[in-house]
Amino acid sequence: MRALGFPIVLVMCLASCGQRLVPSSVDEPSPPQSAQASGAAPTASARLPTRVAELAPPPASSAAPPAAELAPPVALVEPEPSIVLAAAGDVNFGRECGQAILKDVAYDPFAGLNEAWRSADARFVNLESQLSDQHGLTQSPSHRLIFTGPPGGAEVLAQARVSLVSTANNHAWDYGKDALFETIANLERAQVPFAGTGRDVEQAYRPAVLRVAGRTIALFAVTQVWNQPPFAASAGKDFVAWANVDKLKAGIVQARREHDFVLVSYHGGEEYVDAPIERTRAFAKAVMALGVDAFIGHHPHVPQGVGWADGRPIVYSLGNFVFAGHDERPWTKQSFFARITLKKGAPAELSACPFAIDGHRPRSFDRSKETWATERFRLHLIGTSTSVGGSNVAEPDELGCLRVTEKPAPQPSLSSSN
Ligand SMILES: [Zn+2]
Repeated sequence: MRALGFPIVLVMCLASCGQRLVPSSVDEPSPPQSAQASGAAPTASARLPTRVAELAPPPASSAAPPAAELAPPVALVEPEPSIVLAAAGDVNFGRECGQAILKDVAYDPFAGLNEAWRSADARFVNLESQLSDQHGLTQSPSHRLIFTGPPGGAEVLAQARVSLVSTANNHAWDYGKDALFETIANLERAQVPFAGTGRDVEQAYRPAVLRVAGRTIALFAVTQVWNQPPFAASAGKDFVAWANVDKLKAGIVQARREHDFVLVSYHGGEEYVDAPIERTRAFAKAVMALGVDAFIGHHPHVPQGVGWADGRPIVYSLGNFVFAGHDERPWTKQSFFARITLKKGAPAELSACPFAIDGHRPRSFDRSKETWATERFRLHLIGTSTSVGGSNVAEPDELGCLRVTEKPAPQPSLSSSN
């Protein structure tokens, strides 16, 4: 019976023997008690008992093999665990959403999402609004494109178990430096890790590091759009990370040495167009060449296609998430979040999980009633991916997500000579 104990010991080691955190790392925050009580998704470590079960010995009715026939210990090695990161696009806690948060800090704009979002091991969004106290205002009376979420937005993110946010975007400076520093302090208070801004330029370009199931994910976040142009002349340049490959290169190379997975969040491109502009493609190509595991783009307010770099996914635009769309632009009110499966020694895998936006709140498709909407999304993603190399998009899985894979380049056809 001694041999039967081996798998259990091995699994415990997987849960506790991972790489230790470097000082800059941030553990994924524990869900608040209320989230656990509400049946929120288990964390990766909470799922480990399932793995123990997978490694269970044969049923008691099976005759135990002679010792000489026991497989060597190497056959019992636990498969490499995978980590699922759910990554979504723009989240604006200003405007109406901010007013709802001011009325009730328990407001949950993510409540309409299904297990595909909740069951991921970690969740990422682009936080498009600052989180600052503007005396009850969540949008400037003089300019619709200046808005902020209230300070309590940080708690809303934590309660929704958002693990990590990007703060590098064209609204990072809407209310200036004081509000940016306030945003940082609010996220720190609520223990929501962020990347892309900082109290100095070094911090802004530093990745946020998340530890999940004994593995570390380093995420860099940058913007390539700015609402107070030009960026180079803006005081914001000392506190916000720009999509500058030269400034990122050394950090990405170092992160690849120190961490298990490296991701880049990119805010940029042209709004309301289905295909990425050349500047976006060039930046994506350059950072993927540095060995980044996946590229997470947002800002165009509509979903764009999925491209590939040596089998690693480039998501050019995730579109809106917690953000009101426009009736005259249907794809601002429908988009997808990505489920990115990270596994050591293999390219990241990607699924696209479609949703609709009611007001400013995302809502997963009803799988039994909205098969037509899912199919329309599937065809749209195939179509938009054509301009970036092509992707196959499968039928929805049990979570309502569509597996996206690289479309092989067409083979040259043999011409007939007769
Ligand atoms: Zn934007």
